Formats: sequence, structure tokens, C-alpha cells
Amino acid sequence: MSLVNSTDLLVRARAGRYAVPAFNIVDFATARAAIEMARKKNSPLILQTSQSVVEYYGYKAIASWVNSLLSDKSGGKISDEVVLHLDHGTKMEVIKGCIENGWSSVMIDASRFSFEENMRLTKEVVDMAHARGISAEGELGHIGGVEDHINIDKDKARLTEPESVVEFFEKTGVDSLAVAIGTAHGKYEGSGPKLDFERLAEINAITPRPLVLHGCSDIPKEQILKLIANGASKINVSTEVKIRYADSLIEYLSSHREEYNPMKFIENSHKRLMDLFNMLIDWCGSSDKRGDK
Ligand SMILES: [Zn+2]
Repeated sequence: MSLVNSTDLLVRARAGRYAVPAFNIVDFATARAAIEMARKKNSPLILQTSQSVVEYYGYKAIASWVNSLLSDKSGGKISDEVVLHLDHGTKMEVIKGCIENGWSSVMIDASRFSFEENMRLTKEVVDMAHARGISAEGELGHIGGVEDHINIDKDKARLTEPESVVEFFEKTGVDSLAVAIGTAHGKYEGSGPKLDFERLAEINAITPRPLVLHGCSDIPKEQILKLIANGASKINVSTEVKIRYADSLIEYLSSHREEYNPMKFIENSHKRLMDLFNMLIDWCGSSDKRGDK
């Protein structure tokens, strides 16, 4: 099965009041664990790559991991509904590279610019992506925190103004939109996130297309469910995947000091990542929501 874009998945999720899980992958092992768990749960899945992951491995390597995993049907007849998505594209050359090298969805993050400039750049990417049947996500408002090459000071984070959302969708033609309502990238400090659920519900009531929530690591289950109930159709989890991966290596290697066979700790990490993806897919409510592809 080849990759699909995210348009149909997210429209269905919005109508069905669940969310599509979007996990950041950093290597073959993370991609494999995510695809395996999505198959097990009959869930649609968005695999996301940051720009730095793309720049480190190159387009061909990443596209070949994902496509080889999807073509491996050793367990019998398996269908998938998987999207390969660029997360936070800020460099035009990387966005173009993904569009030309097998990604089925891209995000253009021009949220640091003015409203007008954000719309202009987003529309440019939307036109380029749509010409090839690829979906596009934009960002309006400014999500705080640290992720990859993006580091937004708390004071510079800006919540999305509901009245600007409709115009943004209309003028750019973007398929989905990341909104800022208090989630942040990276780890939460102190008492955790302060989420503006009313703002999310208000935006969702007027928006013509699905909304995306970034920075969903380390948020308690009840709050994730509330985000989805208030209109989040795509739940992005990156930091938690990285923490789980790092912790699995630390746990294993610190209790097996003589171990030198990477297969042992790779297998352990695989199990621990599968557990995390299993839990997050349950929270998203996307089990058995895979389309008949
Ligand atoms: Zn993000």
C-alpha cells in the first residue's frame, strides 16, 4: 500500500470526533514501531519528520524506510492508511524536496511572520503541494517551546485569534491548521500546560477544515480527550516519543552493563515504543478508524 495524503483522514476524524495520531519518527526503528502498532489497532497514522531529521538522513532513505515497511505484508493481508508528513517546514528548499521525494503531506510554518506574509508563503506551498495531490498544513498564532530548530520564548508565543482563522483558510486553501491555544513544544514546566479549551471550541465552531494540536507530549489523558472533544483532529506527539526512546536505552543498558549486542536493546526499545503508541492511539480514539484503502 502506498502512502495517502492527510485530507480525507482528518476530515473523517473531525466528523467522527476523534483525532489522528501524528508521531515524529527519528529513524527506522521509530517508524517501524508506529506502523506496527497502527496496523494492530486498525488506526490511521501520520508519520512526521522534522526538518533536521530530513536533513540528516536525506529524502531517499526516509521514504524508503516507510515504503518498505508498508510493502512488507509478511503477516498476511494488511491494509494501511499512513501519511508521511513534514513537520514545521520553515525552509522552502526542504518543503520542495519533500514534495518531490515521496512525502504525502507537508507543513509550512510561517507563523513567525506577519499575518499577510504567513498567508502568502502558505498559499505558495499549498499550490505546489496540491498540484501533486499532497496535503498541506499551516500554522496561525505561535506555538511556544523548543522543538528541533524552533525555539519560541514563552513571551513570544501568541494564541490564535479566532476571527483570523476563516480568512486564513479561505485565502490560502490550506487543508488543516495548527492553532496555538496553550500547548507548547518540549517538556512542560511546573504545573503543566494552561490550555484554552474555550478558544479551541470557538475556533472549531467557525473553521471550515480540521485543526491540529502541536505539543501534545506529557499532557494528561483527560486533557487530551478534552482537546479532541473541543475540536482537535490531529494530535502531534514528538517529545514524548524521544523521551521514551532515550529512557528505554538508559533503562536497558544501565541494568545490562555487559551487553554489547545492539539487537538486544533495539528489541527492548521497540517494545517500549509500541507501548507508548498503543496508549496514544487509544487516547486519540482512532482504533478501528482506518479507512478501507
Ligand atoms: Zn509542532
